[in-house]
Amino acid sequence: MFKSDYASLARPAILPDASNRTGLPAFASVNEVLSAYEGDDAIYVLYPKKIAAAARTFLHGFPGKVLYAVKANPHPAVLKTLWTAGIRHFDVASTREVELVNMIAPSARMYFMHPVKSRAAIRHAYAYGVRDFSFDCMEELHKLLAETGYADDLNLHVRLALPKGDAIMPLSGKFGAGREEAVELLKAARAHVSMLGMTFHVGSQCLNTAEYNRALAWSRSIIDEADVAVDSIDCGGGFPVAYPGMTPKPMGNYFASIREALREHGFDGIQILGEPGRALCAQGGSTLARVELRKGQDLYLNDGSYGSLFDAAQCAWKFPVKLHRSAPRPNGQSEAFRFFGPTCDSLDVMEGPFDLPADIEEGDWVEVCHLGAYGQALASRFNGFHSETTVAVMA
Ligand SMILES: *Cc1c(COP(=O)(O)O)cnc(C)c1O
Repeated sequence: MFKSDYASLARPAILPDASNRTGLPAFASVNEVLSAYEGDDAIYVLYPKKIAAAARTFLHGFPGKVLYAVKANPHPAVLKTLWTAGIRHFDVASTREVELVNMIAPSARMYFMHPVKSRAAIRHAYAYGVRDFSFDCMEELHKLLAETGYADDLNLHVRLALPKGDAIMPLSGKFGAGREEAVELLKAARAHVSMLGMTFHVGSQCLNTAEYNRALAWSRSIIDEADVAVDSIDCGGGFPVAYPGMTPKPMGNYFASIREALREHGFDGIQILGEPGRALCAQGGSTLARVELRKGQDLYLNDGSYGSLFDAAQCAWKFPVKLHRSAPRPNGQSEAFRFFGPTCDSLDVMEGPFDLPADIEEGDWVEVCHLGAYGQALASRFNGFHSETTVAVMA
């Protein structure tokens, strides 16, 4: 699935940089990638140094264990880079993610934090050593207990639905127990588990640090009402990154706010978990898409909504963009452009507007940045368009 298409690279990749443990062909710059490339598809770029830096920010600053939410970008090179940077815990949601993490990092600890699992997925994960599972209803609790043979070493995490907050992408619409149900689940699970936890997700790309405080206060009031001991609090994901028009506060503010809320709500001394996805890899990846045609302010690219630009299309996010061309010419002024993807579907449009040099033309490459999370991970093969070329740029 992640085969890297060396055949599309005309010149051999530069000798592996000592910091490149990704197994990908590595280059010093995007220009070197483009001059070595002979393929016809878009190119996915990973910046391992940026991913490692984001991991260090969390490992040093987050007041608990850092679980990487694999769905944000399951590329083996991302998993290897995070492992090398010191990430030892992985939040998985499917049998294939369990197998993938186990293959790349056999001694990693996995947490199955999808609240709805097939019975086969539970048995499979347990056989792979997974002991942490989340659930948000009584039926799922019974499934977990039955499929693990009422094991006495389970760590179960009750997933809470949060009252409506202001994350850009709310995640409480589909999963999570309401207040009364959560109280019942805590009481019911306590007798069967080795460790009982609570987990929530404030919503992805959460720009308000106070959302974590609110969620922790909500967790505390539910635990108090249930009147059972809880051993773990999982603050979920949601940590934001900068996109044009969305400038989050520094990550240190989030960590300070969470630290303070943990103290305020009496969670000192228990296990604390966090599940960043986006914040660990978004800035460490981009897509190089070629302009196949320009019609006025519309650029037809070889990647789009069914490739790595799903959020640019469906959520109208404006990702940062850069022009790359082999023969640099004076770029002049920039203008606003709209992108069309390569498929025949009229939903395959990214409104932007994206600011690019006014003289951009067919054959130029656009680097769409901050796509390391929920970019390549969402790409499909619709209409015969997809790319198997992923490279590392050691910048
Ligand atoms: C998607 C997801 C995450 C990661 O969310 P980000 O917003 O990318 O940090 C973490 N935990 C769970 C349960 C998720 O579904």
